[in-house]
Amino acid sequence: MHVSLNNPLMESVTTLKGVGPKMAENLQKLDIHCIQDLLFHLPSQYQDRTRVQPISSLQGGRNVLVEGEVEKTDVVFRGRRMMLSRISDGTGKLTLRFFYFGAAQQRGLSEGVRIRCFGEISQSMHQLEMIHPEYTLLNQANPLPLEKTLTAIYPATKGLQQRSLRRLITTALKEVAGLPDFLPLAIRRDRKMPELLMALRQIHQPDAESSQALLNAYHPAIKRLAFEELLAHQLSLRQFRLQSREVAGIAMNTQGKQLQALQDSLPFTLTNAQQRVIAELRYDLAQATPMSRLVQGDVGSGKTLVAAAAALVAIEAGFQVALMAPTEILAEQHLRCFTEWFEPLGLNVGNLAGKQKAKERRDQNERAALGMSHIVVGTHALFQDDVVFAKLGLVIIDEQHRFGVSQRLALRDKGKPEFGYPHQLIMTATPIPRTLAMTAYADMDYSVIDELPPGRTPIKTVVIANSRRNEIIGRIQAVCADGAQVYWVCTLIEESETLQCENAEQTHEMLQEQLPGIPIGLVHGRMSAIEKQEVMQQFKSGELSLLVATTVIEVGVDVPNASLMIIENAERLGLAQLHQLRGRVGRGAAASSCVLMYQTPLSKIARKRLDALRNSNDGFEIARIDLEIRGPGEVFGTRQTGELQFRIADLSRDEVMLPEVQETADLLLSEHPETIQPLIDRWIRQSSVFVQV
Ligand code: ADP
Ligand code: MG
Repeated sequence: MHVSLNNPLMESVTTLKGVGPKMAENLQKLDIHCIQDLLFHLPSQYQDRTRVQPISSLQGGRNVLVEGEVEKTDVVFRGRRMMLSRISDGTGKLTLRFFYFGAAQQRGLSEGVRIRCFGEISQSMHQLEMIHPEYTLLNQANPLPLEKTLTAIYPATKGLQQRSLRRLITTALKEVAGLPDFLPLAIRRDRKMPELLMALRQIHQPDAESSQALLNAYHPAIKRLAFEELLAHQLSLRQFRLQSREVAGIAMNTQGKQLQALQDSLPFTLTNAQQRVIAELRYDLAQATPMSRLVQGDVGSGKTLVAAAAALVAIEAGFQVALMAPTEILAEQHLRCFTEWFEPLGLNVGNLAGKQKAKERRDQNERAALGMSHIVVGTHALFQDDVVFAKLGLVIIDEQHRFGVSQRLALRDKGKPEFGYPHQLIMTATPIPRTLAMTAYADMDYSVIDELPPGRTPIKTVVIANSRRNEIIGRIQAVCADGAQVYWVCTLIEESETLQCENAEQTHEMLQEQLPGIPIGLVHGRMSAIEKQEVMQQFKSGELSLLVATTVIEVGVDVPNASLMIIENAERLGLAQLHQLRGRVGRGAAASSCVLMYQTPLSKIARKRLDALRNSNDGFEIARIDLEIRGPGEVFGTRQTGELQFRIADLSRDEVMLPEVQETADLLLSEHPETIQPLIDRWIRQSSVFVQV
């Protein structure tokens, strides 16, 4: 196959007849620049003007074409002046109602005239009517042919008429006739896919039977485009991955002594899943190409330890490690964990946080720059410009869904080219079905910790109305009397952090009154890092039995003795967030429970979310439901960045295609490499985040 360089699809729309500067400007508002953009501007609706419907068959709400004879036309006053025209086709009668009309129009609709009209049917009482239909007078001598295909209705913009769009697309379809398809014939044949141009024609000018299939995207023409788009996306990520492997990495061959020392010091043994993932990481780290691996594991599966294992390999090989967490509380907790694990091994753990004092910050920067810190734990403060590492070999990012791709690239660039690019390990607790993960993260390798440490009893979740709050007080007393600990999470729908914190403060006071004798702490986003740290420490050590918190404790916090979690107004939080929060309990051997309180009335979707949590502790199952409810853009946190925004494909709808998309990508990469770039160029805009910086 030969892909022409002067591809007519890429020509500017201004090369089409009838597109002047004004029209071009309007088209640009719809993001239509070249002919291909125009052809990929898909209809949002279809109108059926291919057949005349008998009036007796009409139902309200549908757009239809009818013909009839005018019985009478009157101008009446019903609250306002209007013209009513009644027509009949022998099967029934229909009223046409006009609020804007002229005398000539009124004369034209005189008794006995035959007309054809198109509009939406509304049904009022026993009457069928059309308000302001489009209509044409019929004339026996000169019959009006019916449309041969459905009429496409496009997303449009002010100043650009549907008719102009239709005309332009018709012209464009003619201009590009005979163009080669980028998808090789064999692939299309195997998958019974129509040719590109055929698919486009079927979408823009479909036959009367196709509208449902097209609008609901099970028509082969739409599937073909969605498939191609997913394929292009997959190819671009694969290409990015191939390119990033071309740069030099650091081959870290170690004996694993430090890792063994850590394992020996632990009071437990690693789960099989942890061991397997650690082996995968060690293999990657030993390669001379930079690792880029995503480790997924449900809440509580022990990702921190896996990160520590990778860190020890890098350190033993003589390199530094940067570990980045999304919140200060989590960074703080990692700092404590790593200090506890690493200091006995004679390693230095550094710390970089946004709220450090200037002197301490300078100190920490210096230690990183001189290579004195073996690992530096921190928040986004880690990738500020003044942070320099002497010899960075591994970047670990925890709870990745909060970090963008560009931030990851920035961290990677903290490495030094003379040593090679640092390896990257990304850990996420947002479980994603495998096929989706391979689509969203096709530029990375992928491991799953699919096992929880032994001895955990599943969390029992109950869903109750806020009004039953008092029953919970007794429950708290019982749990605390047993020596276990409790989280109470306050939520507020207001974006204002101040309000959230005030709310938490009030709850704190109220609980103190209701639970005398139980030591209660409070953390919220307005407290200083030091204050938060102090309270968390007291909770961890058991000095505090109950912790009132805003959702700042959402990710990562680990206090195994906590066995009861209460979440107020749970209906206001998303599924993934609730699952994360709930994951703060159930970390020890004691049976844990989670109480989801809600404010009535509960919407259907909120009920579905809360039920999903009550019925399952499995992050993957919950993610599946979340995906169903919210769609991939929200779930992956890419709605704003546009990272997984597709023009035609829809990850939840088209998920079944993904394995085939992956297979086809393999096939093109090995057998039809010349098609790759044209496909990527067609679907992925230059501004794509996957373009290497
Ligand atoms: P997450 O995957 O949610 O980040 P953590 O790394 O915070 O999970 O681990 C949760 C808890 O499980 C911690 O208290 C950790 O010490 C403990 N843990 C990790 N691995 C094991 C194991 N193999 N056996 C027992 N406990 C473990
Ligand atoms: Mg974690």
